[in-house]
Amino acid sequence: LGRDGLGAYLAKPESYPSSVVIYHNADFVAIHDMFPKSSLHLLLLPRDQTKNLLHPFDAFEDVEFLTKVKTEVQKLRKLAAAELRRRYGKDSAQEQARQAALNADPPPDELPDGRDWDKEIMCGVHAVPSMNHLHVHVIATDRYSDRMKHRKHYTSFATPFFVPIEDFPLAPDDERRHPTSEGYLWRDLKCWRCGRVFGNRFVELKKHLEEEYEEWKKL
Ligand code: 5GP
Ligand code: ZN
Repeated sequence: LGRDGLGAYLAKPESYPSSVVIYHNADFVAIHDMFPKSSLHLLLLPRDQTKNLLHPFDAFEDVEFLTKVKTEVQKLRKLAAAELRRRYGKDSAQEQARQAALNADPPPDELPDGRDWDKEIMCGVHAVPSMNHLHVHVIATDRYSDRMKHRKHYTSFATPFFVPIEDFPLAPDDERRHPTSEGYLWRDLKCWRCGRVFGNRFVELKKHLEEEYEEWKKL
C-alpha cells in the first residue's frame, strides 16, 4: 500500500463502514483521515481518473475541475461544521448565549448569532503530498490529536506548506510552487491560536495545544 493507500477508498468506497467512508458519489469519496492531526480530520478524494494521480497544483490548473472540487469541499466543510456544533456546541459560550436568548420571555428582537463553526475548519492541500491520490484535507483548526507525533505533523498544517483551497488557482510565480517549499516544515513551531513561539520544543507545544483546545471549544 504505502503511498497508494488512498486508492482503495476510490476503488471500493461501498465496502467501508460509515465510520471510515462518510459518503461517496460519482465524483468524490469523503473519508476520515486514519491518522487525524486534529479533533476532526477528513479527506475529500476526487474520483476523476484523468486528475487523481496528478499533483494538486497541476490538477487544479483546470478551472472547471477546480470549481467542482471547491463546491464539494464546501459541502464537506458544512458537514464538518455540523459535527463540531454537535460535539462542542453545548460547551460554547456563543451557542449558550443564543439558546438563552431563544428561551427568554419575551425573546429579544434580535438573536445573537450562534458560533460560525465553518470558520473553525481549514480546507486545503499539502505543497508536497505524501500520498499519491489527490486529496483535500478538511480539518478542524485545533490541531489537537494523539496522532500528532512529530513536529512535521504540526508544521504541515501550520505553515505555508498547507495551501488553502481558496488560494487556487495559484499565480504562476507563487512561491509555494517551488520545490523547496518542503523547507516550510522546518520553521519554528508557533501556536496557531495565540502566536506563541515554541522554537523546536514540540513536547511543550503539544501541552499548550491541549490548553488551547479546551479554550477554543468553549469560545
Ligand atoms: P498528505 O501529506 O499526502 O497531504 O496527507 C495524506 C493523509 O492521508 C495524511 O493525513 C494521513 O494521515 C492520511 N492517510 C495515510 N494513509 C491513510 C489510509 O490508509 N487511510 C486513511 N483514511 N488515511 C490515510
Ligand atoms: Zn497558544
